[in-house]
Amino acid sequence: MTEQTPPTDAAPPHQLPQANASTLIYNEAGEYLLHLRDDIPGIWEPGSWSLLGGGREPEDRSLEETARRELREESGLELPDLTPFTVEEARGSDGGTVPIHIFTGRWAGDPATLHLTEGVMLHWFRPETMPRLRMASSTHDLIRRHAELLHRENLRTVAKATTDSSSPVGHGASGGGSPGGSLRSGGCLCRGIQFTVTGAPDYPHTCSCTHCQRLSGGPMMSWVSFPLSSLTWTGDGGEPAWHYTWPDSRRGFCPDCGSQLCALDDGASSIAITFSAFEDASGLVPVNQSFREDAVTWLPQVPDTHHNSVT
Ligand SMILES: [Zn+2]
Ligand SMILES: [Zn+2]
Repeated sequence: MTEQTPPTDAAPPHQLPQANASTLIYNEAGEYLLHLRDDIPGIWEPGSWSLLGGGREPEDRSLEETARRELREESGLELPDLTPFTVEEARGSDGGTVPIHIFTGRWAGDPATLHLTEGVMLHWFRPETMPRLRMASSTHDLIRRHAELLHRENLRTVAKATTDSSSPVGHGASGGGSPGGSLRSGGCLCRGIQFTVTGAPDYPHTCSCTHCQRLSGGPMMSWVSFPLSSLTWTGDGGEPAWHYTWPDSRRGFCPDCGSQLCALDDGASSIAITFSAFEDASGLVPVNQSFREDAVTWLPQVPDTHHNSVT
């Protein structure tokens, strides 16, 4: 926001309706870019964390252009793809309401490299940190709504891939694979965490997303899903330790040896287990690779065969 917003006095009311545009910038790690405003008396929301944006100027042909211009002017940030998200209302100093058009944009950069022309700093925050920040509750609500939407989209992508998979792995002519319903066992390197699982393995795939690379210390991880109800933790260590990598999605790992074992979305009926956690993963063959765009360039990628029977 510019220091004058949301009351917009940039244009006479008869020329342009008062309106503001702000941008919700997020990255692949599920973090949101917030702007710490100057703590100066008289400005709007002094000393608060907020979104970058400001009031429409007469030369802006659209509110998207307002959003783009504000990003450029306030931080030097140029985002090619802005998507309209929602319209909020803020109360102006005259008691009237001002519409704030919210756009979203993805960015993966380091805010420390940006040159701010107003405000104190830009920083990435996860939504769960935001209740501890000084920020408008409306901004927090907005981000929470967006994070939920994003999460549901991710789940839909996985669900679609699962539906597209026409044949369960290990079914029929699978070379050496176990039949769908057989018991499989596995665990971590130190054997503290162990499990058994039954049911048909679903959508075996590799993932080269930044989370998988960072957590595994390798170029990708390999995943296969089973019904959550079929899973039993059988080792002395009980359940793995959990770490949330998305607002509603967590990874399970051994707190002693660090082995990455599984991933579980809140409310999901299936759990993804790493190939490497199984005693015998010989029947599992990935049918696709997620997040190819983040993959290392020095390895070939896994072919996408998930429309065909898996062998
Ligand atoms: Zn262990
Ligand atoms: Zn991943």
